[in-house]
Amino acid sequence: MRLSQLFFKTFKEAPHDADIPSHQLLERAGLIKRLARGHYTYTPIMMRVLSKMKTIIREELEKEGAQEVLMPIMQPKSIWEESGRWAAYKAEKLTYIIQDRDENEYCLGPTHEEAVTSLVKNWITSYKQLPMNLYQISNKFRDEIRPRFGLMRSKEFFMKDAYSFCANVEQMQEQYQKMRRAYQKIFERLGLEYVIVQADSGKIGDGKSEEFQLVADVGEDSVLIAGDLAFNSEKAPCTPKDFKYPKHNEAIEKFSTPGIKTIEEQVKFVDQPSQMMLKTLIYKIVYEDKTEFAAVGIRADREINTVKLTNYFEALEVELASEQEIKKATGSEIGFIGPIKCLIDFVADNTCRNMHNFMCGANEKDLHFKNVQWKRDCDEPTFYDFCQAKAGDQCPLAQGEVYEEKRGIEVGHIFNLGNKYSTSLEAFYQTENGKPEALLMGCFGLGVGRCIQGAVEQKYDEKGIIWPSEIAPFQILLTPVNVKDQDQMQAAEKIYKQLQEMGLEVLFDDRKERLGFKLKDSDLLGMPYKMIIGKNFLSDKEIEIEPRQGDKANISQDYLKDWIEESFGA
Ligand code: ATP
Ligand code: MG
Repeated sequence: MRLSQLFFKTFKEAPHDADIPSHQLLERAGLIKRLARGHYTYTPIMMRVLSKMKTIIREELEKEGAQEVLMPIMQPKSIWEESGRWAAYKAEKLTYIIQDRDENEYCLGPTHEEAVTSLVKNWITSYKQLPMNLYQISNKFRDEIRPRFGLMRSKEFFMKDAYSFCANVEQMQEQYQKMRRAYQKIFERLGLEYVIVQADSGKIGDGKSEEFQLVADVGEDSVLIAGDLAFNSEKAPCTPKDFKYPKHNEAIEKFSTPGIKTIEEQVKFVDQPSQMMLKTLIYKIVYEDKTEFAAVGIRADREINTVKLTNYFEALEVELASEQEIKKATGSEIGFIGPIKCLIDFVADNTCRNMHNFMCGANEKDLHFKNVQWKRDCDEPTFYDFCQAKAGDQCPLAQGEVYEEKRGIEVGHIFNLGNKYSTSLEAFYQTENGKPEALLMGCFGLGVGRCIQGAVEQKYDEKGIIWPSEIAPFQILLTPVNVKDQDQMQAAEKIYKQLQEMGLEVLFDDRKERLGFKLKDSDLLGMPYKMIIGKNFLSDKEIEIEPRQGDKANISQDYLKDWIEESFGA
């Protein structure tokens, strides 16, 4: 490809909304262009990256037996009603809903479980056809509340989504392992640093779910690692450090804490370590058919993990109750709730179990208790792990190991779905005994654009992008030193042809620009090698070769073929 003819432009500055290096670089290199918030055009050079990324994904998935399909982006409301997700997705507003001329409603697929289940329905009818794994690479649409970071969190994005269909749990686990292996190969081929973490899968499936996280400071997720185990911090079990409570046996005492509403103010007011205080938060627990309130206690130096709380209550979601709601539900006021004679269900984090002679709200305005002891002053609540884990906490599942925290970009999520969709959409097959049974499913997502940008986020320097060779848009950027020098230009043309004939992907910078200007663009674009044809070529047949990372070298044209074989195995 000749750069002079390419639809291409680079920029000195990144747009204002580009907050992270990878987004800035993709825009500055003219690889993507924003059309609207969260919607990006991939330009010709970026299309080459995309196409390579897709090839890697296809190759690795197909090695594990997955087969490609392409499902419509527009999906009828009816299948989402059958699965029971229409109302919730509509309420969440993450899904775009549109109408056709007859006012039939559709959604722009945010995901395709319903569509793929409809696809296999009545086609997979016997256990003999199982297992089956179908995947597609296509656009997904999600009206994200905070689209940002370019392709990382956009409203329209490419996803590879695979779905397995199985006759039994063993097959489902096996398909899971196959996809896990395919993902590992994909990230290894890209040469990226990643962690596989245990993740929350909500209420769906058998609870097993893992995320592939690219390690990067800008990652939106917190990843906690303890020895061989790694967790999304949403999911990480934890045992916070114990605190030594005073052993005295003084009577419980009510004391005045006028106008003090926050735990910080309270701790300051009593001038005691925060571990002496039990803080109580009131949550609204939202179920499909009802809403309840619950009081949740935790040692005041720690925070509640709402994902753990949601799972404990088997709820759709939980959220902090408002001041009015608290008053109505507890008869007391925000800031003064506690476990003693609490009017609503009270549960507490494990950090509260050993609390002794502690302080807590008295369920009366402006009053707290001190010297509280479980059992003596108050029934023990149910204790459970509701605590948000953090670096330095002990991991109860890894003997003696404490968590180390890393930031991660979630690029893939794999999980076993079980029969939720096959049951509701009636995708049944006949077992060996001739009985109809719902298919067991797994689902495996991979963000294609997020992977590409994640690769840039891990590999760049002050000059620009450093593409992993497997997805580099071109292998070599070739340029003559002086385009005005006919001989140099002709020589470069010859080398360009020669390289192409050898099957290499070359971007020939034949623009009539200064060398310095061209080299800057070349570094920004980040091709693995730069090849420069100058005076030395004309005198000694020497080509200057500069890897994007590493030292320059001069090689003789006679040696070019060997160099290519060495470098590209071509
Ligand atoms: P997140 O928590 O980041 O919103 P998710 O849990 O909603 O992700 P899934 O529904 O599991 O994601 O989608 C599978 C993959 O699709 C994700 O692992 C991610 O790589 C990608 N993805 C999800 N949302 C977006 C988005 N808005 N922009 C780009 N890629 C996305
Ligand atoms: Mg999401």
